[in-house]
Amino acid sequence: MYQALYRVWRPKTFSEMVGQEAIVRTLRNQVMSGRIAHAYLFCGSRGTGKTSAARILTRAINCEHPQNGDPCGECASCKTIESGASFDVYEMDAASNSRVEEIRDLLEKVDYPPQFGKYKVYIIDEVHMLSNAAFNALLKTLEEPPEYMVFILATTEPQKLPATILSRCQRYDFGRYSEDEISGHLKTVVEKSGAQAEPEALAMIARAAEGGMRDALSILDMCMGAGDRITEEHVRAALGTADRAFLFSFADALAQREAGEALRLIEELMRSGRDVQVFLKDFSAHLRLLMASLLCRQGEALPGVSGENAKRYLDQAREFSQERLLRMIDLCMHAEADTRWAASGRSVLEIFALRCCEQPEERDYEALLERLAEMEKKLADLEKNGVRAASPVPKRETEKAPKPAPPAPRPMAETPMPDSGKAPKDVWNDALKYLKKSEPALFGPLSRARYGGYQEGVYRALFAPGEEIFQTMLAAPERKAKVENALKQCGGGEARFEPLSQGAPADPDADKREEKQLSGLIDMFGRDKVQIDE
Ligand SMILES: [Zn+2]
Repeated sequence: MYQALYRVWRPKTFSEMVGQEAIVRTLRNQVMSGRIAHAYLFCGSRGTGKTSAARILTRAINCEHPQNGDPCGECASCKTIESGASFDVYEMDAASNSRVEEIRDLLEKVDYPPQFGKYKVYIIDEVHMLSNAAFNALLKTLEEPPEYMVFILATTEPQKLPATILSRCQRYDFGRYSEDEISGHLKTVVEKSGAQAEPEALAMIARAAEGGMRDALSILDMCMGAGDRITEEHVRAALGTADRAFLFSFADALAQREAGEALRLIEELMRSGRDVQVFLKDFSAHLRLLMASLLCRQGEALPGVSGENAKRYLDQAREFSQERLLRMIDLCMHAEADTRWAASGRSVLEIFALRCCEQPEERDYEALLERLAEMEKKLADLEKNGVRAASPVPKRETEKAPKPAPPAPRPMAETPMPDSGKAPKDVWNDALKYLKKSEPALFGPLSRARYGGYQEGVYRALFAPGEEIFQTMLAAPERKAKVENALKQCGGGEARFEPLSQGAPADPDADKREEKQLSGLIDMFGRDKVQIDE
């Protein structure tokens, strides 16, 4: 008959227990010294060894030949308790038997001394689930327990226990297992079962189990059936988690604000039967890795990511601003919480995707832009008619270009570079590529410009009407220096850079472009850095 791994591998002695060293040491000492308490309280989240420790302790204190505090496993008492046939040991799960009659029944039997062993032991699991009346009945017994009586209460939520109970128990807090403790134990289990597993696969299980050994063994169980050698793929299939490639595609769609593509990917996810909550958890981890790679210095390792994947994370991270990533992580965590209550997990995920694709508060800026354009027109009309405002109306700081637009600079003759044999246009293009990687925030505005030619060590970029805001931005000394450095890196020598505005007839699409340029600015520098002065 097949038995679940966590049953097969349930420790039978303190020595076999994984971790929880301090607790194990104390309990062992109590067994050896014979100083047994009347009531123990084992607290801790699921799968941290509470029930196992309770059973080991039960057998140890009744064992005829305990060895170093461990039950021998051979004597009559050990064997009877082990088989579940002992009348001296009761195990009850308060989650399923919280009725007061049941606990009263149990407590009535307290008066009968143990038939075989030294101690009569009641193990009450999930004790916080007992009703108030049941707690009161239990409390009475705890106040004056017979010499032979031992209670072992276990709970995942000790804060729900009445103080009167807490104060009568010796309390032990079982911590969650570390990922190393879990993967180490899984490795032992796999080896002893004659199977094989990739270390990455076991690490992945350990991460997913979040400190619970029972969950880890259950996941391992699901993977064991899949093949001789357990791989990351098996674990992903067992957990129902999406693979990295899918996470990258989904993040890409959001980065480009392609809502249609994002919804298509969600459709794909749903068709493959994935769980929305699990996916949101994975995606939240993906976003956090992106954030980490934005913040990490070059060469620093990302936790749990190989070198080759680290580059993919960094490349994708550069598609986002820090502010945007932060906002998406926040949205993702809220969506994950929402799936617990929402009737349709899918719509939670879809709304999350759409929110991520949204331009933040685009409409406010559009409205401001319109008002700005109107005011400027009025001002120009007034000036044309010879009327001057009593106090000068400040112009938009970025609009330094005088109106009407200056004549287009004459195209310059291309003079070849003195040192490097590279054509200036190639130097320019390479510098753009260089900046796209190293200074994405600069590349944005620069990519709006047209290559304006090279002459005597000066590279020029021409900005179309309506794009002057980018020209002004790039004219700032520190930004200019960065562009000049890029030109130098790409074989341009000690070059200077000059952003110019290109005089040309009014562009019918100017309005649209202005709108785009402003939202581009906000994307690049964050909302709080872009200020529009009226
Ligand atoms: Zn024994």
